[in-house]
Amino acid sequence: MIAKVEPLTPARALRGPFDYLLTGALENVGVGSMLVVPFGRRRLLGVVVELAPDSEIASERLVQPLAALEANVPETLVDLGLWVAREYVSTPARGLALVLPPGTGTGAGRPLIPRRSLRAALTENGREALASPARLGHRQRAALDTLAGGPAAVTAVARRAGADHSTLRSLERRGFVRLENATHPPRRPQVEEVGARAGTVELTGAQARALEQIVARFDSPHAPLLLHGVTGSGKTEVYLRAVAAALERGRSAIVLVPEIALTPQTAGRFVERFGDSVAVMHSRLSSRERYDEWWRMRRGEARVCVGPRSAVFAPFDDLGLIVVDEEHDGSYKQEGDPRYDARLVAERRAALQGAVLVAGSATPRPESLVRYERLELAERVDGAVLPPVEIVSMTGTSGPLHERTRQELDAVRRAGDKAIVLLNRRGWSNFLSCRLCGRVWECPNCDVTLVFHQAAGEVACHHCGHREPAPSTCPDCASVSVARHGAGTEQLERELEELVSPLPVFRLDSDVAAASGVASVLGRFHRAEAGVLVGTQMVAKGHDFPDVTLGVVLDADATLRFPDFRAEERTFALVAQLAGRSGRGRRGGRVIVQALEPDARALRHAAAHDSTGFIAGELPRREAFGYPPYGHLIRVVCSSTEAGPDHAAADAVRELVERAGVLALGPAPLFRRQGRHRAQLVVRSRERDRAITAVREAVEQVAADRSHASASFAVDVDPQ
Ligand code: ADP
Ligand code: ZN
Ligand code: ZN
Repeated sequence: MIAKVEPLTPARALRGPFDYLLTGALENVGVGSMLVVPFGRRRLLGVVVELAPDSEIASERLVQPLAALEANVPETLVDLGLWVAREYVSTPARGLALVLPPGTGTGAGRPLIPRRSLRAALTENGREALASPARLGHRQRAALDTLAGGPAAVTAVARRAGADHSTLRSLERRGFVRLENATHPPRRPQVEEVGARAGTVELTGAQARALEQIVARFDSPHAPLLLHGVTGSGKTEVYLRAVAAALERGRSAIVLVPEIALTPQTAGRFVERFGDSVAVMHSRLSSRERYDEWWRMRRGEARVCVGPRSAVFAPFDDLGLIVVDEEHDGSYKQEGDPRYDARLVAERRAALQGAVLVAGSATPRPESLVRYERLELAERVDGAVLPPVEIVSMTGTSGPLHERTRQELDAVRRAGDKAIVLLNRRGWSNFLSCRLCGRVWECPNCDVTLVFHQAAGEVACHHCGHREPAPSTCPDCASVSVARHGAGTEQLERELEELVSPLPVFRLDSDVAAASGVASVLGRFHRAEAGVLVGTQMVAKGHDFPDVTLGVVLDADATLRFPDFRAEERTFALVAQLAGRSGRGRRGGRVIVQALEPDARALRHAAAHDSTGFIAGELPRREAFGYPPYGHLIRVVCSSTEAGPDHAAADAVRELVERAGVLALGPAPLFRRQGRHRAQLVVRSRERDRAITAVREAVEQVAADRSHASASFAVDVDPQ
């Protein structure tokens, strides 16, 4: 038998798969096995991606693998990893790294090896042998007797039955027992408890109807489903029941969530309901813990995987259901190579394994609304109305807060209620300038202004992490008059503290998250009697705090000023999601949205909680310009340390792409980032596969061309 092996090496130039001869002990190696193979003078780690009866390589030149590793990846996942590599213009090694046990990666460090403890289990044949007068040695019979009571560690069998390792091996050869490696004890990652808890509830009519539709799909082929439910409509309860239904059918389930740290409640509900059969892929797990969880799933001890985008690669071979919670969330797109979109991977995987895909959101993407079958939850569970939203114009006002906002916050203070305030900009001030000579403080590595952080006494770049002490004088003219422009969350926190005193103010943004953790902030806000949570988009995630009576969005149309076709969609989702955090309890709630253009379409629809109407207005424009969901975008960014090669490389890529009959726009300069000059091409096409192929071939050709050696390439299919 010939194994086609894809080597796990980051080198793009090494083109697998390569053929190896399987004999002897390695005869029964299958697709998904990991092998150590000789490669020239090196030894490499590789994955078997295919088996073939013979090879095109002359048999005397074929070599054998050196060893097989413990890990074996389900065959469908090998296919999925290779598909990701093709679809997102990456390498097979990078695609496969996604589906291997965590820590195996692309050559980085040694793969983790399981701490072995061999366990034995009786097979069906073994049970029959025990019942019949089959020829068994008395040690063998004693061993089978012991195992009839359930699987046990090999050492325990030895103790109880006096049967040693070789006895069990010979029973294994006869097919009477199964020997497996187990890790002991598997580590159980903890999930912090935040927010409202729920026992088992009676489903509302709408929830029951949605569940019925999902369950009906388990038995027949199907399109993906979109659970379009307003904020607070009880989507999580529907997911929980759908997972239970999958488990009842003997199948596993994956639940994708945007980020566990931000939505610990959701993960907590799954653990609460399904206990140890849930593997939670927390971002703070150590690699050892990830590795242990991977094996618990692989062995079938964990049947449900809850986690962010990478959980879409959970090693289940009996997958029945994939849930994508908050499917509009941008975190489903990976930023580094391979730049995969977990939502599309979920679709592909569901189709490969005959699983049901349910994507849920209060503000679904146009892509999903157009392509998926829609299930609707039109009302909040308790029949509560969605909070009224008031949009106020900031034209002519000074300071970050509108008079109406001040009044409402004051009302919260007097009543001892809770409020959430969103400002999608961290730090104290946007940028600093010299009042005398006009100098603006900029990042030395990126063409952007530095943001002032008061508590740290620093100015920092939000693109590359560069930081330096905040200036007290201007280095150009020695003036001591430095002006601060624009308010960020840090400054707003101070302003709110004065306004709502003595109520506590809690800030949540990535600075705080890095320092003290998201869960601790959310936990303190949850436990407080009253108070204000202020922060970046982190505060608008799916939190369920029933006692929040006021939601405020500052500078709501800031995102509209980005030149991006998704600007409206993003603005709409952000405002509608924040609005959804308010008025979840008996006391009701309200929302104030501050904007420079109060009439913007995205804001008007968000104020009306009208995602269907918003998307209906969005679609004709997208159709006309060939934007998603009607067309596909691919972005190619070429970069170099000097100005020039970036642009030249982008020109060369464009020429090849266009020669393949696919239209490309650009190159357009992007701002310098992390010391690299950048030029961008955008390919827009209604023929996805053709465009991807054209880009892949063009980039490979230009990257291999020595005259473009100083340029680097990043390809992003379906950029967000
Ligand atoms: P969504 O995800 O749709 O915004 P959640 O799943 O957070 O909504 O549900 C909102 C609240 O309603 C949660 O506290 C949840 O426990 C509760 N809930 C869900 N379904 C029911 C039900 N059928 N009866 C009563 N309460 C429910
Ligand atoms: Zn100056
Ligand atoms: Zn920078």
